[in-house]
Amino acid sequence: GQPLPTPPVAHPTQAEVEPASKEDSPASPSAQLHHTSAQPLVAAADGLTFILSTGQVVLDAISGGAAVSCLGNGNAEVLETMLKQGKQMAYAYHQSLGHEIGEKLAEWLCERSDGALVAGAFLNSGSEAMEAAIKLVRQYWVECGRPEKQHIIARFPSYHGNTLGALGVGSIPSRRDIYKPLLCDKIHHVTSPQYKRLSKPGESEEEYSARLASELEDTILSIGPDKVMAFFAEPVVGAALGVMPPPKGYFPAIAAVCKRYDILLVMDEVMSGSGRVGEFFAHQAVAEGVKPDVLAMAKGLGGGYVTISAIMVGQKVANKVRQGGQWKNSHTYQNHPINCAVAQKVMEIIERDDLLSNVRARGEQLISEMTEATRDIPSVVDIRGKGLFVGVELDGSIGLKPRIAARVKEQAFKNGLLVMGLSGTIDGVQGETIVLGPAYTVTEEQISEIVRLLAKSIEEVIEAL
Ligand code: PMP
Repeated sequence: GQPLPTPPVAHPTQAEVEPASKEDSPASPSAQLHHTSAQPLVAAADGLTFILSTGQVVLDAISGGAAVSCLGNGNAEVLETMLKQGKQMAYAYHQSLGHEIGEKLAEWLCERSDGALVAGAFLNSGSEAMEAAIKLVRQYWVECGRPEKQHIIARFPSYHGNTLGALGVGSIPSRRDIYKPLLCDKIHHVTSPQYKRLSKPGESEEEYSARLASELEDTILSIGPDKVMAFFAEPVVGAALGVMPPPKGYFPAIAAVCKRYDILLVMDEVMSGSGRVGEFFAHQAVAEGVKPDVLAMAKGLGGGYVTISAIMVGQKVANKVRQGGQWKNSHTYQNHPINCAVAQKVMEIIERDDLLSNVRARGEQLISEMTEATRDIPSVVDIRGKGLFVGVELDGSIGLKPRIAARVKEQAFKNGLLVMGLSGTIDGVQGETIVLGPAYTVTEEQISEIVRLLAKSIEEVIEAL
């Protein structure tokens, strides 16, 4: 029952960088626990634009800061839907009163899953959906009459949320270390795929994927296959590695191992789902036909207008849970009518306006223009991504404090561009990535402007060194 030793990793786990300067923090404490006094104040927002209290205009290249606002701010149809639903019925407790709004949204999503998913429920954050996934896989095995299945295998590095269960499944030391004594000790971590960084010379993507699948198999065998209930993975890694799509063959190889040992496959699409990588579900874009048993989504689902997440399940899990009677999960705001109605509208707009085509086309434009614009900047070491989810990796060997991603993020903001900066160190190796994830409505011109401002900001930071 003890966790396996963490596999050696040649690259850091990343966490969102600290603000580059704290000198402007006022002496008087803020009334907010997570005080925001060092952060710029937003006065208004429209489309992909924030207007600050100083009057400065900022172009949003990361959907509100965290890959959430997939339609931008100020979408009149979404706001009308919110008001209309609020007038008809703002709230009904899901244990006492049913409504068709959640039912309709679950059906709508299942219909677009190529048969992978047959049922879902709606919660309020990515972490809540991940907690529900952890509990659901447990319930599944108990209903199957196999209560000895209690262990979870996830990956290193990974981020699956900030509640205790989700922090336990994830593995970013800076986010979980102080809580370690409170975290479940039945969680084990295998290497998260980073083909370019960690493959052996001459090793193909498929060979690398097969190697990681056998690491998973070895881990299952060392715990005991009868004790493992699920494997958790993000189809495209977001915050843990600054956007990392999987290498070829990864999900088929992993899924074969899970099948061999009767282990559920849980996909965390909190960040990469809801259209971000060019399909409604992220696994449809990168998992080569592999389907999840359980899936979590959030962020883009509500487009930032509501705080909604979803847990979705395939037939196998749905059958067992229904046979057993009831899904043992309940929160006061589960299936909240306004959340569900708004998410339904956000999804319908994406489909009606064919925004997924725009996600794919603008994503390709972003990678190719960014690659071109930074060709002569050696400090840009990798540009990668899928759809409108792109990581621009900077040379982490430059021994700076504040770190280079923090500096670029700050410089970009001065230049009128909002990006995410990820940074982290393990064993003295520094990883620095700028993450881009604009709204799905982003135009060709806005992509070129994002590229221009980011390349200029990187150049200015490098020149100042
Ligand atoms: N899983 C992944 C992959 C995430 O990126 C996040 C949030 N960054 C979460 C879970 C947790 O979601 P939330 O912050 O909404 O609780």
